[in-house]
Amino acid sequence: MGEAFQIGAHQIGPGKRITLDLSVPQLYTHTAVSMPIQVINGKRSGPKLFISAAIHGDEINGIEIIRRLVGLRILQRLRGTLLTVPVVNVYGFVNQSRYLPDRRDLNRSFPGSKTGSLAARLAYLFMEEIVARCTHGIDLHTAAIHRDNLPQIRTLVDNPETKRLAHAFGSPVILNSDLRDGSLRHAVADFGIPVLVYEGGEALRFNEFAIRAGVSGIVSVMRELEMLPPRQRKKPRAEPVVARSSNWVRAPQSGILRSLTALGDHVKKGDIMAMLADPFGEKTETVIAPFSGIVVGRTNLPLVHEGEALYHLAQFGKPETVAEALEAFQQEYGPDNGMAHPEEPPII
Ligand SMILES: [Zn+2]
Repeated sequence: MGEAFQIGAHQIGPGKRITLDLSVPQLYTHTAVSMPIQVINGKRSGPKLFISAAIHGDEINGIEIIRRLVGLRILQRLRGTLLTVPVVNVYGFVNQSRYLPDRRDLNRSFPGSKTGSLAARLAYLFMEEIVARCTHGIDLHTAAIHRDNLPQIRTLVDNPETKRLAHAFGSPVILNSDLRDGSLRHAVADFGIPVLVYEGGEALRFNEFAIRAGVSGIVSVMRELEMLPPRQRKKPRAEPVVARSSNWVRAPQSGILRSLTALGDHVKKGDIMAMLADPFGEKTETVIAPFSGIVVGRTNLPLVHEGEALYHLAQFGKPETVAEALEAFQQEYGPDNGMAHPEEPPII
């Protein structure tokens, strides 16, 4: 038998779902502001998983991932509790900005404090009301504005528990990534809660492939945690590939970029990735791959200054096998794989 779940002044009984608004500091117009949360409490007790999105207010794929997730019929069989927080940085979301109105980055403000900056207070509230009540977490992100990320999980691959969950998620790529000071992932790890960061797509854009991969990944993690029953179809799944290191390829000069390299491409050391020139094309320079790898992130804006990050290149043991794995993922998350909401057309 399940147990009631307590959050704020709300008590959510087993088998119940509730949408609530967590009050956060109001606007200077005197307008009230709140963080929307939906809690789904299973009939039977089990792990308590939070899914957060838009900690960077302009990263909106995660909001659509959560919308699709909470609509899945399979949640009727949920064991444990699912806490979804689609818009953590409500101020940034309204401004279509990554940051808070005080220009702080919420994901550098964790664990926060009760008496600190607006960002610190929001971070503190999230830790107190969400993280402290959970046993696991998944934080959803996209690339920054004008950049695109291949769907990827970022985690510490040497931690057995996060490694297990990262493989269960099944995104095409797992990137080993150290904990960054002030990030939610860092603060939650200090709490002793395993947490994954999912990155996919671009800020202020929807990306159907990244959204599908996100929904499917969360469901797979929930199956791994036994919050949901195992998959019926034992179709072999595409295996994610793990990159231990990655680096940015930067612009050797300022100019207008003509990219020859797409997201997910396998490049070899010495390959020409792009051309960079002045408006007349007179001072043309090539952008060369400094090592062999897979492009897991790239800029979409062809106007660049010297030193700007152009491509995020991840190193793998065998980049050729990664290219194959990516193809398998493209098929797995294709429009007719029977995933969530078959009645809904894909976003294009
Ligand atoms: Zn982000």
